[in-house]
Amino acid sequence: AAKNNGGGRCTWFDPIMDQLADADAKLAADLRQAITRDELFLLYQPIVELPHGRLAGVEALVRWRHPEQGLVSPATFIPLAERNGYIIELGRWILREAVRQATEWEQTYGENAPEKVSVNISARQLREPGFVEEVAELLRTSGINPHRLVAEVTETAVLGTGEAIEAVRDLHALGLRIALDDFGTGQSSLSLLVDCPVKVLKVDKSFVDGVTGSSAQAVIVDGLIGITEGLQIEAVAEGVETADQAYRLHKMGYRLAQGFHFARPMAGSDIELLLTVPDHQKVRQA
Ligand code: C2E
Ligand code: MG
Ligand code: MG
Ligand code: MG
Repeated sequence: AAKNNGGGRCTWFDPIMDQLADADAKLAADLRQAITRDELFLLYQPIVELPHGRLAGVEALVRWRHPEQGLVSPATFIPLAERNGYIIELGRWILREAVRQATEWEQTYGENAPEKVSVNISARQLREPGFVEEVAELLRTSGINPHRLVAEVTETAVLGTGEAIEAVRDLHALGLRIALDDFGTGQSSLSLLVDCPVKVLKVDKSFVDGVTGSSAQAVIVDGLIGITEGLQIEAVAEGVETADQAYRLHKMGYRLAQGFHFARPMAGSDIELLLTVPDHQKVRQA
């Protein structure tokens, strides 16, 4: 942090900022070793059909087991990796690992395998030249049906640049399904639903939180269903934590939901337990 810009800055504040910057730099350096040291892994959170709770797909969520600090949240290290560019390598690993797991499930469980596997793609990846070609190559070498792969992108990521919108169109052309993540929290622009080949809209938890009341959030969540139906887009309610919320969403017409009420993100091997239970693929009753 700059030390000499006077202008009424607190003198005790700069050392703290420096410490934070040092901690960040240390974490960033550690992150660069995380792949080769085998410290990264993916968890998978079920996305379920309402109201019965049948597994419709999973979202891959990355985890980092830091040797000293234990589990570090992606909310911490993804932004860090985006700032220093390491997200390109990290994102490559995440996509490969998710596709490896998806094809392994298909080989083992056939039509009982999770039909769709969602992967979060950061803005930086979308803008990286050659990203789409890399995905195309991965599709070829893995043999995965591209329709099973969902690319989750945020509004902010796509609105950022023309390159990002173009990359999204190219991914769609490869056969991937495009999901707009955290919908409602970014610089929401409905024109994105016109400009981008969006197939899935993930309504952010902050809206879902208010769905049982008579808040503005509830009105918006209710209204979005009409928009998505008209545009033939699937709506997924994110962050569903209670039976009341699941019930309200079902009544509003939501067919897909994700959240702790149904299941937390879990290891791939735990997803497999859901695939083999006799009462076929029911994660949890809504
Ligand atoms: P996201 O893509 O919106 O993922 C959903 C987040 O909400 C996950 O947090 C999930 O654990 C959490 N969640 C799901 N249901 C509930 C619920 O009912 N209640 C609450 N309180 N939380 C719930 P997570 O795994 O910590 O990830 C946070 C964010 O970090 C993700 O938000 C995504 O933006 C980013 N992220 C995670 N994994 C990846 C990745 O592999 N690549 C990239 N680029 N970003 C990732
Ligand atoms: Mg997501
Ligand atoms: Mg989300
Ligand atoms: Mg979200």
